[in-house]
Amino acid sequence: MEKLKKILRENYLRITEQIEKACERVGRSPSEVKLLGAAKKQVPEKVKILNELGLKLIGENYVQEAEKKQKVLKDLPIEWHCIGRLQTNKVKKALKLFHLIETLDRIELAQAIQKYAEKLNLTVPVFIEINIGKEETKAGVLPEALEDFLVELTKFDKIKIKGLMCLPPYSENPEETRPYFVKMRELFERVKPYMDEEFKELSMGTSGDFVVAIEEGATIVRIGEALFGKRE
Ligand SMILES: *Cc1c(COP(=O)(O)O)cnc(C)c1O
Repeated sequence: MEKLKKILRENYLRITEQIEKACERVGRSPSEVKLLGAAKKQVPEKVKILNELGLKLIGENYVQEAEKKQKVLKDLPIEWHCIGRLQTNKVKKALKLFHLIETLDRIELAQAIQKYAEKLNLTVPVFIEINIGKEETKAGVLPEALEDFLVELTKFDKIKIKGLMCLPPYSENPEETRPYFVKMRELFERVKPYMDEEFKELSMGTSGDFVVAIEEGATIVRIGEALFGKRE
């Protein structure tokens, strides 16, 4: 237990320091970058320890796993984000579990969110997931389809679009990922003039490439194994 706390503290301090240094290098304020713990396949105990250390954002990929974890971690000051593919038949449950959905990627899902948000009398903050690498195996709106997608979304008054999210093609070398982060930033800047004030988040960067993501404009980095250790 004490050993686990020590490891997690070291991870947390190392990452927050890396975030600060990356910000410094490119003249950004560290307050512009939020750390999100990607907690899939990690035990709730680790989430609790990291939350006590100051981690406030937690991302979950699966509705069932989020539900199980939240039962154990009741009432902790955590903002829960859905960062995995969300099936329409799980939306009702998801809206009760998550404060924000980072993976809105299709109209069918927007329709389901709108429907249950009306029933629950909620406004749902979302990010649009972009398939920035145009990978067949990945979810997300294609970059060239984003503008039309945003126009279609204007009819869903219970959905509040707060930013963009992506998971670029994996590479061992973060420099190979940099061009995708640059493209995300350009896409973000291109649509921003048409969006509300609240459109300001760019969720990108994971354990292997978050430093590069911050250099290119990330406002949220989603870190799993570098923070929690290896997944179960
Ligand atoms: C797992 C996951 C992460 C974190 O990945 P790590 O390589 O463990 O840092 C971030 N975003 C999404 C969508 C994920 O599924």
